[in-house]
Order: sequence, then C-alpha cells, then structure tokens
Amino acid sequence: MTAARDLVAMDVAGRADRGRAEAAAAGCDALVVVNRVNVRYLTGFTGSAGLAWLGPDELVLITDRRYGEQSEAETSQAGADVRIEITNDAPKGILAAAAAGLSRIGLEAASVSWADQRRYAEWLDSAELVPTTGVVERCRQIKDDGETDRIAKAAAIADDALAEVRPMLADGPTEAEVALALDTAFRRMGADGSAFTTIVASGPNAALPHKRPTGRSIGKGELVIVDMGAVVDGYRSDMTRTMAVGQPDAEAQRVFDTVRDAQRLGVAQAAAGTPISEVDKACRDRIAADGWADAFVHGTGHGVGLDIHEQPWVRASADESLQTGHVITVEPGVYLPGFCGARVEDTVLVSDDGPRRLTRSPKELVVA
Ligand code: ZN
Ligand code: ZN
Repeated sequence: MTAARDLVAMDVAGRADRGRAEAAAAGCDALVVVNRVNVRYLTGFTGSAGLAWLGPDELVLITDRRYGEQSEAETSQAGADVRIEITNDAPKGILAAAAAGLSRIGLEAASVSWADQRRYAEWLDSAELVPTTGVVERCRQIKDDGETDRIAKAAAIADDALAEVRPMLADGPTEAEVALALDTAFRRMGADGSAFTTIVASGPNAALPHKRPTGRSIGKGELVIVDMGAVVDGYRSDMTRTMAVGQPDAEAQRVFDTVRDAQRLGVAQAAAGTPISEVDKACRDRIAADGWADAFVHGTGHGVGLDIHEQPWVRASADESLQTGHVITVEPGVYLPGFCGARVEDTVLVSDDGPRRLTRSPKELVVA
C-alpha cells in the first residue's frame, strides 16, 4: 500500500455540496447513493457494502456491523462531514426519517436493480422516487489536486513497470507472462493493484482491441499492444503502447506510424475550452487520411479516476467542452483482422497550461 502521507490531500468534504447541486439540477431534494464508487467519492468509505444518503442538510453513510470501525476511520481520515449509521437490518427506518418532508428522491438508475427499486419504493413511500443518471459522476469529472496527484502516481508506476518489463519481450515470452510481469511490478512498486485486466495482444491477436492475454509466444517483427494501468489509493491510470521486437514489415510500420501521429494530434487538442469532440475528430481525421477510418472501431477516449472508464466520453457525439481538471485518455487504434493492430494511449490532464500527459513511457515501436 502507498503510504497516505505521501499523497496530496483531497477535498472530500467539499464533494457533498457539489453533489447536492447536481441532484437539485436533476430535480431531486435528496439522492440515495448505492453505486460504491460514488459512496467512496462522497464519504471516503471503501467498504464493499453500504449506501449513502445525500440529503439537503446531511450526508449519512449506512453500513453494517462488519464495517463499524472501518467506516469511522476512513470517513474521518477523509475529512468528510458524514453521520454514520450501523445496522444489520434493512435501512427502512433510517431512510424514512431522513426523507421526512421531502418530496422527490433520486435513485441511481444505472446502479439500482428492479428488485431494489421496489424495496426503496416501499421504504420511501411518502416521496416520489426519481430515476437519475450520472449525478455524482458529473461531480467526479473535475479532479482536484489530490486526485490528480494519485492518478499521476499511478501513471508513473505504470511507466516504471513497463520500463522494467520491456526488455523481456526480446526473450519471446507469452502474452500472459508479460501481463503477469507487469501486474507483479505494479504491486511491488507500491500500487494497490492493476487498474483493469492488463492487455497484451500480439500479431493477429492485436487486431482484437480488448483481447485477453493468451499463451501465445510473441514473435519477431510482430506488433504487440500492451494496455495497462495501476491503482493508487483508488485512482487509476491507463496507458497503451504498441511495440515490436525487431523491425515489422512495411504495412505494419505504416499502421503504427499513422496511429502514433493521430494520437499526438488528439492530445494536442486536449486544452480547456476545446470541444471534446475535437479530440476525437483530430484522431479520426488523421487515420481516415491514410484510408483506415473503418479500422478505428472504438471511441477515442474516456475519463479516468476512481473508475477506469468514466465521464467524460471522448467521442464525436460529445457536446461538452474540456475543463481544467478533466483527466481523459486519448487512444486511437487501427485493427486489421488476421494481420495486426496498433493503439497508442495516454492519460492526459487538462491543466491551465494545456494538455499534460501523465503517462510518459516512450513511444518508439521497435524495442530490440
Ligand atoms: Zn487502456
Ligand atoms: Zn482507455
């Protein structure tokens, strides 16, 4: 575990009021928060069971007796202004009391099952339940200095891990061996773990954007996509590099050169005030110019934070502009079935000084 004292403080206490403002904008007097990442964001509590009540005057964390001590310790360490209720029974009474006099209560539609919705309707029968989407997630888009410090540290660990593992490619390892070496290095270097299942995809496997690592040995001259990230205090990094052991053939080299250049152009657009769609357009236009528009089969990027994929989504249909404090990925790719694939991805902080890449690993294709 990374020692907390090494990390810049986060403004956890300020999050409840921002959440209230977003809930009000969604037409709600209060919000029942069941998404665990959102519960963590608002309260600092990392336990795997519990929910939060974000009311007009108070933030309440409701969890069970397994988490009594942990919930006290984590919320006070985070500096959150939260009342803790410990119960092993259904929270009907606690919620009904908190909701007294309120008329519209939001439920996170993407995180509440149909069965749960029926239970909340019974517990909160004096109010109208309102399905909401993305209320707390919208608050999470803009990172404070403590959050960007954690993401930057997670990015630096991934850089160091890749530098350590890269020479191993020359020995003809399997994809799974490379992935395991990266995952192990993350932990040894102080990360909580991997941000997602590490991708190592070589040769024709690289044409499958989210291929899991296999027992396939990496051959000379093949493109290898390595997509990896680390976690520091819950915050994630995300980086892809495409590498080759020995010189690939001319067509594969051209695919890589196009993707790398498209990614550079996309990152250059990641400035405050720029429409998010412009980042997507810069990547897509460059790839289309070389005739591979149809081979770029996924979105250009996504926000990164407590979740590996979160708002804002970097795509043509995005209608918002970038703001200082956004942390996004820029990750164009070209995939030619049966032959090869290339993707290059950085985690980028939109800062007052323009785009700042948090993932810094070199992008040279040929590693040995
Ligand atoms: Zn990635
Ligand atoms: Zn990504």
